[in-house]
Order: sequence, then structure tokens, then C-alpha cells
Amino acid sequence: MEKTKVCLSVIAPVYNEAEILDELYHRVSIVLDQIGEPWELILVDDGCTDGSTDKIIELASADERVRPVIFARNFGHQIAVTAGMDYSQGEAVVIIDADLQDPPEVILELVEKWREGYEVVYAVRTEREGESWFKKTTASLFYRLIYRITDVAIPLDTGDFRLLDRQVVDVMKKMDEHHRFLRGMGAWVGFRQIGVPYKRAARFAGTTKYPLKKMFGLAMNAITGFSYFPLQLATYFGFASAGLAVLGFLAWIVLRLIGSQTISGQTITLIAIFFFGGVQMISLGILGEYIGRLYDEAKGRPLYIVRKFDKNIKPDSKGKRSNETK
Ligand code: UDP
Ligand code: MG
Repeated sequence: MEKTKVCLSVIAPVYNEAEILDELYHRVSIVLDQIGEPWELILVDDGCTDGSTDKIIELASADERVRPVIFARNFGHQIAVTAGMDYSQGEAVVIIDADLQDPPEVILELVEKWREGYEVVYAVRTEREGESWFKKTTASLFYRLIYRITDVAIPLDTGDFRLLDRQVVDVMKKMDEHHRFLRGMGAWVGFRQIGVPYKRAARFAGTTKYPLKKMFGLAMNAITGFSYFPLQLATYFGFASAGLAVLGFLAWIVLRLIGSQTISGQTITLIAIFFFGGVQMISLGILGEYIGRLYDEAKGRPLYIVRKFDKNIKPDSKGKRSNETK
């Protein structure tokens, strides 16, 4: 029998969220049932170790609209969402955090805009509840820095909570980069885009799965993936220090001509060595960041490894991104 065509796919990446999954399923299904179109909820288990995996399987066996994709280990949030997109079948795909910080009820507004003809409807955080001062400040700085230095206009205060039309998902599925910053990729593809404001709630339970190290990693992927600015910095430093050297040389000639001995050779030499040593190390480090990423692309390893998934659905990215080859 021909299966009903899925209209809406909701993707939730899950990393140790056992306490939340029941509530997530409950709230998402109420909202999606209101829309009245066939839907699926893809729960991507990003290497959970807290029993979330069993919970996901349990939800899936009770309701076939819940589709599990279970990773062999933790690959990270952006990769989990990517796998969700690969496995999705809907005409529109909604990406949502599993911790209910993105209220599922907002999906109704996203769908409304999609029906008006927008292909990317992103949710903009106007307020954030229950997050530390540190998280809010670093997030705000991050969005503004990315906005300034990247080559694509990534909307401010916008996370991954958004709706993407099938056309956009298909384009993004062809983007095989390993170090993924989905918000940047979503802005880069173009299409008709619009923002919908929402209030970001506090976590339903548990603690953040984004420690400083992961946040920093995401920021580095965002910057290196969408900007050459750090590489250009080395050039700017080079010009600036060469300029300084010329000025210093001129000053030295003038001082010598008027018979002054004010500049002692040693101090200046030491300062210059430290300064240029620092600049060179930083420049090398920046180069290293890009070269490391090139190396990862050259290795061409799969983006993720799936241990188990719903046999009814198959990714159609021809196995390039995962170990699934059919
Ligand atoms: N997450 C994931 N893999 C990770 C880290 C996080 O799939 O390695 C999921 C997590 O379960 C949640 C979403 O990504 O559904 C956002 O993570 P979190 O809420 O911890 O981030 P925060 O909201 O604190 O930035
Ligand atoms: Mg969260």
C-alpha cells in the first residue's frame, strides 16, 4: 500500500534528554495534529548514554510517526540535525531543540508563513528565559561578530529553530562540508526568507549540552566556514607592522642626524621580537585552522555513522554522508 505523503517533518536532535522526550512528543504531537496534515517526528539520537535511546525506540514503537535515527556515537548537534534532514520526507522540515526551549506552538506560525510562500522561516529570539548572564552575553556577542565578519547575512539572534521548504532541504543536502554551521548555510542558499519573533523558554529539564568548548567549536566553524577575515588579518598585521618599521627607521635616521641617543638598541629589539613572534604565531594558528578543515574535507569520512534507524525510511543522499549505502 502506498504510504501517505508526509507534509511536515520535525527534527529534534537529542543528546541525553531522557527526562524530556515524553513531554517533547506530547507537545509536538498536539501542535502537529492541529495542523491536520500527515507529519513525522525524527528523533536523532546523538550518542545518548542516559537511556534516551530506549525512550526513543519506545516512542517510535507506540507511534509510527516517530522516526528514530540512532548514531553510533556523539557527532554533535549540527551533524545530528543534518542527519535528520537526510532522513526527512516532509514537504517542509522544522528543526527544533529537544529541550523545549523552542516552544513547539511556534511551529504553527512558521507553517503559516510557509503557506504564504516563504521557503525559509526562521524564529528570532526576542527574549531568553532561564539562561545565565554568561550564556546570553556570549551568544549575543557571537551573533554580532558573525554578522559583521561573515560574507552572508545571517539574521541576528536566530538559532536553528526554523522551517525549511523541501527545495531548501534538498539544496542543503548537497552541501557536504564537514564543519557545519547550519544557520550560515541556511542564509547562504538564499530563497525567500522571513523571521518570526518568539520568546525562548527555559529548558524543560536537565542542563545544557553545549559547554563552552562546544560553543567555541561552533563559533570557529561559523567564522572559518563563512569568512576569510581571520586570514586577511595576517595581511593587515603585515602591512601595519611593515608601515611601523618604515616609520621607526625614518625616526631613527632623524634622531641620529640631530645627534640624539634616546632609543636604546636592546629594548627596541626585544619588543620587536616579541611582537612579531606573537603576530607570526597567531597567523600560523589561523592558517592551521583552515588547513585542518581542508584536511578533514580531503579525508572525506562520512559525516555521521548510524547504528540503527527506522527501516521504513532510507536517506536519499546515496550514502555519501553516512555509512548507510542503500
Ligand atoms: N545536542 C545534540 N548533540 C550535542 C549537544 C546538543 O544533539 O552534542 C542537542 C540537545 O539535546 C538539544 C539541542 O542539541 O536538543 C540544543 O542543545 P542545548 O539545549 O544543550 O544547547 P543550549 O540551548 O544550551 O544552547
Ligand atoms: Mg537548550
